[in-house]
Order: sequence, then structure tokens, then C-alpha cells
Amino acid sequence: MEINVEAEKQAILKDYRQLLRIARPRMHKGDDKRIRHAFELALDAHKHMRRKSGEPYIHHPLAVAKIAAGDMGLGTTSIICALLHDTVEDTEVSLEDIRKEFGATVAKIIDGLTKISKISHQTESIQAENYRKILLTLSDDIRVILIKIADRLHNMRTLDGQSRKNQLKIASETIYLYAPLSHRLGLYSIKGELEDLAMKYTETEQYKNIANKLESTKKDRNKYINDFVRPLQAEMDKSGLKADVFGRPKSISSIWNKMRKKQVEFEDVYDKFAIRVILDSPMEREKEDCWRAYSIVTDKYSPSPTRLRDWISHPKANGYESLHTTVMGPGGQWVEVQIRTKRMDEVAEKGLAAHFKYKENKTKAQNTAEEAIESWLMQVRDFLKNQDVNPIEFINDFKLQLYQKEIYTFTPKGELKILPAGATALDFAYSIHTNIGDTTIGAKVNNKLVSISHVLANGDQVEIITSRKQRPNDDWLNIVTTSRAKSKIKNSLREEKRKIAEEGKELLERKLNQMKAHFTNDNINVLSNLYKAASSLDLFYGIAKGTLNLNELKQLKVVGGHLEIVKPEKIGRPKEEQVQENYTEESDIPKNAELVIFGESSSQFPYEFAKCCNPIPGDDVMGFISINGMIKIHRTGCNNIINLASKYGYRIIKTRWTAKTTPAFLTTIKLVGLDDIGIINKLTSIISGEMKLNMQSISLETNEGIFEGIIKVFVKDNNQVNKLIAKLKAIDGITSVIREEI
Ligand code: MN
Repeated sequence: MEINVEAEKQAILKDYRQLLRIARPRMHKGDDKRIRHAFELALDAHKHMRRKSGEPYIHHPLAVAKIAAGDMGLGTTSIICALLHDTVEDTEVSLEDIRKEFGATVAKIIDGLTKISKISHQTESIQAENYRKILLTLSDDIRVILIKIADRLHNMRTLDGQSRKNQLKIASETIYLYAPLSHRLGLYSIKGELEDLAMKYTETEQYKNIANKLESTKKDRNKYINDFVRPLQAEMDKSGLKADVFGRPKSISSIWNKMRKKQVEFEDVYDKFAIRVILDSPMEREKEDCWRAYSIVTDKYSPSPTRLRDWISHPKANGYESLHTTVMGPGGQWVEVQIRTKRMDEVAEKGLAAHFKYKENKTKAQNTAEEAIESWLMQVRDFLKNQDVNPIEFINDFKLQLYQKEIYTFTPKGELKILPAGATALDFAYSIHTNIGDTTIGAKVNNKLVSISHVLANGDQVEIITSRKQRPNDDWLNIVTTSRAKSKIKNSLREEKRKIAEEGKELLERKLNQMKAHFTNDNINVLSNLYKAASSLDLFYGIAKGTLNLNELKQLKVVGGHLEIVKPEKIGRPKEEQVQENYTEESDIPKNAELVIFGESSSQFPYEFAKCCNPIPGDDVMGFISINGMIKIHRTGCNNIINLASKYGYRIIKTRWTAKTTPAFLTTIKLVGLDDIGIINKLTSIISGEMKLNMQSISLETNEGIFEGIIKVFVKDNNQVNKLIAKLKAIDGITSVIREEI
């Protein structure tokens, strides 16, 4: 290839001047000097580099800067960063150099861009971890992600120069992450272009097909659009509104998505275009003018009553404001009409990010929307703080919320909370505060008491009801849909697990001491391997919970404080068998004996029920031989028995219930509900009336309209308890009924 140096120089300068022309409207005094400085530094740094296409590399940073300035409406700092975005990564220029020349803000953004460009692609989890890194930069400065999107857009536009493998890799990344992010940030036209470009490489056939069909039907479509627009434009002009009415084709990928989703042919997709009414209105008349335009549109064409969307009164969380309606056009065809002002249109095209924080004189709607973006970013930050979340899980959770439809809900004081559609009362609680989420027992939605899993609807007013005694549990993860709530719950559960693991750690430490083995990382690793625990945390937790049995340590040899495996095949078997082998050592109970409570063999051994967990027939139970020979019966999940079993496993005796049980057992039921004068009546009529059970006591404690009750009642077995609980739960106003925990 022959290179004409002079021609290349001219082309670069021309490109640079174009950038200045685009940036000019937003530039302040002295900005051109700084931009020139950045350009010259980048030009010099990249001087020996060429793109895959063969052209000088500097055209790439220039193109990225043009996208940032033009398509996103970003200012000088972003333009400088776009020009320099590949220097630290690919050239001799250091971050220190950048800091010296352009200051701390530019250096920080370049640092973020450099960090996320180091992407490798071995496995799914490494990939996910990289996406996580990209998102992490969101929390520093939103401009990092905006420039990254601009970078990606230019790389997508010039993807032809890449190998097929790279094309597919880059295109799928774009669909996976960059298009959804652009959507979330309100960069609608960039999102559309990214999706179209990606589809061109990943679904080439379909892309070409639709593009060809769009081209061949263009004439008819334009005629239709003209027929539709002309009378509308005339009416707008007559009314005195300054309106521009025109048709806009929808993107190829969005048409393809419709075809797939509705399983229809190209010909049957009715909205291959949308009509836009863009109004030139002063700020204070924006809303009024949009509704006037709406009235003109619907006077002319009949609207579908179900397809009115008012994103002016309630802008989307990404700042999108517009009035959408679908009307019946000529020839019985549905046509979507989007009505908004010039300002709203700019936000819709370039994203609120362009205005976000870097512009003065904002409207009220902009402020609201900015608050929404700010709170979204805050959620992202919270989410990212969870270092030990599995990255794949993380990215899936995160992606889910990028495209979600939104609902508008309100606090009792009328404060707006935007949540994804499908969000529950518990999501709402976590959106207010973690402490509130963690202690939620129910909610009042529009003054009606509902459970924490109640799915909220648009316009709901939600009051969260909490109790100091409430704690999150695993089930909650299935109740919430927002990633914020999910990560908060996971945090709480992990915290809980850590606490329990701490007990296991102490147990193990004591046990190792007894065995004269050291409590060292090496020994813990040996044990983690043997017990197949994923981490030391899991090991300690398993020991505390009794799912890992310390008795098995007897099968290890201790040499100079180090644990050595003797019979690895014996380790990790269920506790029950293990226990039976061992218990005979110090008692005279025959090997393989089984305590059958109320049955024949039980008469041979004296037993009593443990007070700590109050087992009743039907519960999973085990016996523990106490020093005086008495066998204590515990529920298997009881913390005391887990502790005892881990220390004195040989004193455990397998226990089961016989079918013939008659005595009544005392059990405790806790319930929570809305305070109501008749509640005691309702409770007693079910317990004593319907179920004919004997109550020992009933006590209710009321606090701010919510009561917590404790009922002690005699039952035959756990079936009966479960039946009782189900019946109590069915009472209106009762939110939670549980058997007292062990
Ligand atoms: Mn780049």
C-alpha cells in the first residue's frame, strides 16, 4: 500500500476541524486551546499506529470525540477525554502525564477508561467479571461510561476491518451490555444504531432481508406518511403551535424484534415508522402545548384508548419525556404518534446524561429525572459494593433491570418511588432503606394490609410495616425483583451466616486443640477438601449447623500438629450412620438401637422432651443420652443438639415416632396482623371451635395498629399444627403465622 503523507495530514486536519465545528456551541473561552492540546498529544502518541483498515489511528479518537460532542452533547472535558482515551492504554503516555497536562478530573476519567479496556475473553465468569469492572466505573464518573459507549459505537461502525471471530465477539458484547446501558441512560438513537450494527454481524441474513424490504417499500411508505402528516401539519399551523410533524423509520433491529416476538412476517408489522410532533415551546408552556397537540392529533385521527402513554407528567427514570398515542390512520392502519418539545427531543436523542450535572437552568422535570438517574446510580453503586457476589449472577441481575418497564408508586407522604414492573412491597421497603427492608413484616397498599410479597401496581400508595424482631430469610430472594433489594438481602444473609460460622470456627478450634492439631490455614484447607466445603466460611458454617460432623476428625492422623488423611473414603458421609458407629463406646445401649417414642423399644429407655425446642410428633427428632442416662429428645434443627452432637456425637441416638400417639403436646405459635377488635374472637373460634384444640394461653401485644400474638396450644402432631397455621393465616388482616422457631 502506498501512503501519501501529505494527503493523510490533510484528512486528519479536516477531521479535527469537523470536531471543533460540532463542539463549538458548547465551548467556553479557552476551551479550544485545551482541545487542541489534547488533539496534538494524541496525534503524537499514536503517530506510528494504524487501524485495521489502514488509516492513521488518530481518526478513531477523533471519531469518538465527535460522537461524544455531537450525538451525546457532552462538553469540553469529555471531548478531551475522548481524544486521549486510548493513549495511556496503548502508548507511552502515562496517567501522570495526563494529570500534569489536563488536571485531576481528566486523569480520573482516563484511568477509568484504561481499566475497563483491559478485557480478556476466556470464560463466562471472567467475562462477567469484566462487565462488572465496566459498571464499577459508573460509580466514579458517568462520563467514563458515556465515552466508553462512544468508543464502542465507533468500533461497531468500523467493524468490517476485524476478523469474523472478533466481529462476533464485539457484536455480542454490544448486544449484551452496551445497548442496554445506552437504553438505561436514555441514549435512544445510539442504542438503536448499536443494535442495528450488532444485528448486521450476528444475524446477517435477517438484517439484509429487512433492509432490502424496507428499501423496496420505501416509496409507498413515504406516500402514506405524507398523506398522514399533511393535514396534521396544517391544523398545527392554524392553531398557532410551532410544530414540526414528520415520520421516522424504526430501526431494523426493532422491526426484527417485533417479528420474532409476535411471530409475524415483515408485511404484518404495522409500526415500521412513527410520527413525531416536535414543538417549539417555551419552558413554562411545554406541557400545555403537548396536550394541545395531542388534542389536534386525536381530533383528526381516532386514538386507541389503551395506548396513551404520558411520560411528561411522570418522566421515565432515564429522563425520557414524551406523550405517546396510537391512532387509526388512513386505510385502517394503526400509527404511533410521539409528541414532545425540542428540549425533550434532545434529551430523548442524546440522553439526559448530556445535561446531567453539567448544565445549569434545569426544568423541574429535568430535576426529577436527574434525581431518578442519581438514585439509579446510587443503586448501582450499592450493588457493586457486594464484592463477593458471584459475577455471573451479578451481571444477570443487573441486566434484568436495564430493560425493565417501570411503575410509579408513592410513599404515605406522596414521595414518588419508581420501581420496575413486578416489584413487590418488599422491594418498595428496600427502596426506602435497608433497615426498613430487613424488618418488614407487611405493608398497607392503598390502606389495605398486604403481605410482603404483594406485587405493586402503578399509582399504589405504600406504607411499610416493620417489626424489630423480623429478619430476612432465603425465601425473600424469591420475593423481590430489584437488584438493590436482592443484594441487600444477600448481605444480611451472609452476615447471619458469618455469625453462625463464627460458632463453628470456635468448635473446630477447640476440637483441634483436643487433638493436638494446630488451627492453621493448612489444616483448615485439609478439612475443607475433605468435607468438600467451598470455603473456610462454608466449613465453619457446616460445622456450626451440624451438617458437617466433627466426629469424622477421628479418622485423621495428627503428625506434629498437622492433619493427615488416613481413610479419606470415610469422610463426608451422613451424620446418622457415623453416629451409630460411635455411640456405644461409653453407654450400654446396644449398637444400632433406635429409640421409638411411644413404641415398644422406647419403653426400655427413659426419655423426656427437650425444653429448648419442644418437639411434637411428626417433627424430625433425635435423642441425646444425658449423663444421668435419661434420653432427651430434640428437634434435629435445634441449635443445642447441633452443639452437643458436634462434641459428643457418640451420645446421639436415632429416634423416630411411632404411629400410635395420643398425648397432646404444647406448642407455641406466633402471629402478626392488623389490630382489630374482633381478632381474639376470630382466633379462639378457630382454635377451640373449629379445631377443638386446648389452649394454654393467648397473649396479644399491639403497637401502632399491628399486633403480635403468642398462642400456646396443645396439639397431637405437626400435621395438626400446620393445619392450624393455615387456618389462622386465612383470617383477614393476619399477615404472618409461624410456629415458634427453635
Ligand atoms: Mn478506542
